[in-house]
Amino acid sequence: MSALSVRGLTVTYDGTPAVLGADLDVDDGRVLAVLGPSGCGKSTLLRAIAGLEPATGRVGWHDTDVSTVPTHRRGFALMFQDGQLFPQLSVARNVGYPLRIRRTTRAATAARVAELLDLVGLSGLADRLPTTLSGGERQRVALARALAAAPRLLLLDEPLSALDAGLRQRLAEDLRRILVEAGTTALMVTHDHEEAFAVADDLAVMRAGRIVQSGPIAEVWRAPVDPDTALFLGYARVIHGRAADGIADAAGLPDGSAVALRRSALSVADDGPLAGEIVDVRTTPGQLRLVVRTELGELDAVASLDRRLAPGDGVRLRADGTRMATLPGRSDARERALD
Ligand code: ADP
Ligand code: MG
Repeated sequence: MSALSVRGLTVTYDGTPAVLGADLDVDDGRVLAVLGPSGCGKSTLLRAIAGLEPATGRVGWHDTDVSTVPTHRRGFALMFQDGQLFPQLSVARNVGYPLRIRRTTRAATAARVAELLDLVGLSGLADRLPTTLSGGERQRVALARALAAAPRLLLLDEPLSALDAGLRQRLAEDLRRILVEAGTTALMVTHDHEEAFAVADDLAVMRAGRIVQSGPIAEVWRAPVDPDTALFLGYARVIHGRAADGIADAAGLPDGSAVALRRSALSVADDGPLAGEIVDVRTTPGQLRLVVRTELGELDAVASLDRRLAPGDGVRLRADGTRMATLPGRSDARERALD
């Protein structure tokens, strides 16, 4: 049985639903990422789960319905995009805050704070004020503070979005390690698919207030429910019709209504099944990026950097079935909608 179960959760602002009939499950010790574009209702969903937003539907924790339990009794902790640290308190006092308001003894608080600062890699910074920290350090403090009271569920609202790209990637990996080491059950919302892949075990895709797909990350990645989902997950392009069938055939995959391709799904290989002529070549640090005119139309492809290729050259292309996904046909989609 799942730890958190959300059923039919709906939040409406002035007659307009911001979250509509959301169903979600998070198992004990697992991290679920809710991935969706800005404005799709992610923060509203999180706030409703925390009990900070009036909602209809059910929020359950194991066998208990907590829908009417006030926020501070749910045992959930919420961490925001901007951390929201107390500016006048040191790092250690920020982290210890949830313990002090629970009247934890001074010695026990100090010990737990030291343990948490160690967990997030900030042991040397206990006495610093938040304004003297980098953005990444501030988010680590916010994370340590959210974990201080050992919440049974940690809710993370775009925890890395305020950071610049390189730091975000590193901190995403750290966040994963910290959550796993602490055995935390967590639900994170984000608009960034790389962040979701780096941190979570399971994925739910949200669009316009609805959860459109959910499951273990690898399953969602392998079988996106529709083109918009595929593109949002990070596939480079979705191809329809005869070209989609031709590429699926070349890769030995079943036909669908469309095929979602990674940038590297088609690559130059002398024994490949698809013949074509190069229209454009661009050099990137890792590979050559080509546009190739084939009988299926103009397609993106890649080649290794040691190839000497130029527009006008004839090439053959191989289709890698592990770098693409066939999307369900329209009739399948309709049947699913009627389920
Ligand atoms: P996300 O976090 O995915 O960017 P939000 O949950 O913040 O999306 O917002 C979802 C929708 O609900 C948006 O259209 C937003 O304008 C609206 N919304 C959010 N909070 C409120 C509010 N307090 N009052 C009215 N509308 C709101
Ligand atoms: Mg938001």
